[in-house]
Amino acid sequence: MNRPRILSGMRPTGPLHLGNLMGALENWVSLQDRYECFFSIVDWHSLTTDYADPSAIRQNVVDVATDWLAAGLDPARSTLFIQSLVPQHAELHLLLSMIVPVPWLERVPTYKEQQQNLKDKDLSTYGFLGYPLLQTADIIVYKANAVPVGEDQAAHVEIAREIVRRFNNFYGEVFPEPQTLLTEAKRIPGTDGRKMSKSYGNAIFLKDDPATAREKLRTMVTDPARKRRTDPGNPEICPVFDLHKAFSPAETQAWAAEGCRTAGIGCLDCKARLADHMLEHLAGIHARRPELEKRPDTVWDILLEGSRKAREVAEATMEDVRAAMKIDYRKP
Ligand code: SF4
Repeated sequence: MNRPRILSGMRPTGPLHLGNLMGALENWVSLQDRYECFFSIVDWHSLTTDYADPSAIRQNVVDVATDWLAAGLDPARSTLFIQSLVPQHAELHLLLSMIVPVPWLERVPTYKEQQQNLKDKDLSTYGFLGYPLLQTADIIVYKANAVPVGEDQAAHVEIAREIVRRFNNFYGEVFPEPQTLLTEAKRIPGTDGRKMSKSYGNAIFLKDDPATAREKLRTMVTDPARKRRTDPGNPEICPVFDLHKAFSPAETQAWAAEGCRTAGIGCLDCKARLADHMLEHLAGIHARRPELEKRPDTVWDILLEGSRKAREVAEATMEDVRAAMKIDYRKP
């Protein structure tokens, strides 16, 4: 029986961190058994915001792919590819742009939000407005049945569904409506307590060796009420405790919560125990990544082969699309 097909992507913004791992990547790894998976490094999407300086994209692509493979994405089971090596995404994006009203794009919540948040960049571009359209093309060019996303991305799948309905309404049933496969969002704060993000400089990366990861944890902010070892704290407002919830077993979480509230343990004890569990969780990645780093050519070969496979699937869809839109001149 054919497995349902899913598509998801990541922008090549640099090496991945624990937030990426726990928010998406580990979920992707587990989905490989149940779904036919297409995972894309969406380099064109990074140009929608970082068009002025693309100098880092190439290295970022290989960094992301190396992290994917180290985390357990398996090219024998999943198609791992680079978006721009599958030009069918661009062709479908263009065709969709003919039928999608501009207000549909303007009302996507992240459109205005990001324009306000990224004030140092001019995001009044056509490409940035069309970002959800390109994302829709990314999904439906594989006729994906579902898209694994966090809740914050659900609006993008919803607009993809609306676009599919509009397309199918004009030209016949070409695309399935992609479903949302909601992933559970764990809160992964960075070392300064804000959301973990490369741009905040607060991230623990998958490429960090165990000593570096441990050191970053050691200096992480805690409940500010615990100025001295004897001050009791509140684990529910401590970002270190959020990481315990993500990595430590229930008994360690109970030990940390109790010790924190009673000042029975110090923050360094608490962090050291967390580091043990976190490093145990990351042991496979720490074992595999240095080996992959030594073989960037192998990583590129995997991406090129995945992109070739993706092109075949995407081209089959585009044949249907061109036929449906009566621009199919390749056949007599
Ligand atoms: S003991 Fe642990 S949970 Fe409590 S403030 Fe310190 S690091 Fe945070």
